[in-house]
Amino acid sequence: MSKYIFVTGGVCSGLGKGVASGSIASLLESRGYAVRMIKIDPYLNVDAGTMNPFQHGEVYVTDDGAETDLDLGNYSRFTTGPLGRDNSVTTGQIYQAVITKEREGRFLGKTVQVIPHITDEIKARIFKVGEQPGVDVTMVEVGGTVGDIESIPFLEAARQFIHDIGRQNVLFVHLTLVPIVYMGEPKTKPTQHSVRELLEIGIQPDVLLVRCRNPLEDELRRKISLFTNVDREAVLSAHDVRTTIYEIPIVYAEQKLDEIIVRRLGLPPKGPARDGWRAFVDRFAAAKRTAKVAIVGKYTDLHDSYISIFEALLHGAVANDARVELVKVEGEDLEEATDLAKVFAGCDGMLVPGGFGSRGIEGMVRAVRFARESKLPFFGICLGMQIMVIEYARSVLGLAEANSTEFAPDAKDPVISLLEEQVDVKNYGGTMRLGRGDSHLASGTRIAAAYGRRLVSERHRHRYEVSNRYRKRLEEAGLVVSGVTADESLVEAVEWPDHPWGVGVQFHPEFTSRPIAAGPLFAAFIEACLARKR
Ligand code: GLN
Repeated sequence: MSKYIFVTGGVCSGLGKGVASGSIASLLESRGYAVRMIKIDPYLNVDAGTMNPFQHGEVYVTDDGAETDLDLGNYSRFTTGPLGRDNSVTTGQIYQAVITKEREGRFLGKTVQVIPHITDEIKARIFKVGEQPGVDVTMVEVGGTVGDIESIPFLEAARQFIHDIGRQNVLFVHLTLVPIVYMGEPKTKPTQHSVRELLEIGIQPDVLLVRCRNPLEDELRRKISLFTNVDREAVLSAHDVRTTIYEIPIVYAEQKLDEIIVRRLGLPPKGPARDGWRAFVDRFAAAKRTAKVAIVGKYTDLHDSYISIFEALLHGAVANDARVELVKVEGEDLEEATDLAKVFAGCDGMLVPGGFGSRGIEGMVRAVRFARESKLPFFGICLGMQIMVIEYARSVLGLAEANSTEFAPDAKDPVISLLEEQVDVKNYGGTMRLGRGDSHLASGTRIAAAYGRRLVSERHRHRYEVSNRYRKRLEEAGLVVSGVTADESLVEAVEWPDHPWGVGVQFHPEFTSRPIAAGPLFAAFIEACLARKR
């Protein structure tokens, strides 16, 4: 039977609960336990697919095409367990399921209530993941902050685990903050209050991860322990790390968090933790070169909007013993009058990430032309690849009004458009291509060189495609179609001819990049950036 760990957060949001959860799971994995992860999001949206990246950050896509919270991306970078539709639970899904059952008359005339019906549905979803064969530990991260109205049913469900499977099989980890106030004094009161809030619900945390700027002093640890009934050894200092987030599992391991968890849950003993992170962190710390990469996007003000891309660039940089410096540029700010040479001065490469809607598109087209003409290494992802095609059609094919029907529904030359079959059903809303799909790469291309193989399988999340009506003309004009779907019906990747490294992909390679196994395209792109620097 799987043991269950619930991770909650207190004091305020944005303390890095997802990274903390992934770090804990990675420690357990490194000792040989099979860990599964679930993220609970207490909002009413059924999934993150419809949410604005400005508000909620990136939409992370799984192999099976679920559009989920970005924390699943954190899990995928720290751990190796499978992640899919079942690993992302929202209030919207829970209520939708319960209301559907109610309409089907499956509650046999009962009054349908939050307790037990909503909490039962929550528990059923958690058990569905945990009861798969071979799972040792199931970690459930409860989004939001303890004290929020929205998360109460989830915390109540977590509490019921104590009743249902026994206290010895459940562990509660609470992440809090020790802020530093006026005279530089760290304060524990908010932590005390947030633990009290958990106690009111009936949950006594077993482990506290205390976020703080500097390592938590013993005196504060003692004080927090006294006020919260958490063993002193289980009050952990989760201080800011100086290298990368991948140092966090090391910080926890130094404080023996894995041992505490194994003991507390009575897990069958397994080998000591392998330190999978030290090598990566050391390599990062030793890196002497830096690749300066401009990100020309639509949501650059919020770091989380492109979190997987930024992380993948970091992985790619470390694979080249380098660091990456990001220069974030809003496409919208690149109007006709801007001097692009000035904006991109000192940059070693440019990346245009995914996005939806017409805002900023013309600025991106200008930036892409600049990268192509000035031979700046360029990486276009999803929307970024579509912009590459639009720019090429305009500048090289001479189709001045080439566009995507997403931005210009009546474009004279819709080089990017919906598929014929999608156009017919447009009243029902076009469908998105979501999840993992195969691409065949053309030999002799940069992309095939980067992957080192001809068949790759990456994740998709897009609605529009390169129009096959223009494909031949684009190729005749020099654009290299370097990747296609298995049936060759859709363009998956393009490259610029006579350019050091100009690659665009319709899929999202950032979702599968991991620190110690950098996405091949990110490693190759950074390599090209560093080569340009030399
Ligand atoms: N908006 C474009 C499409 O729907 C690109 C999507 C993306 O970049 N994820 O095809």
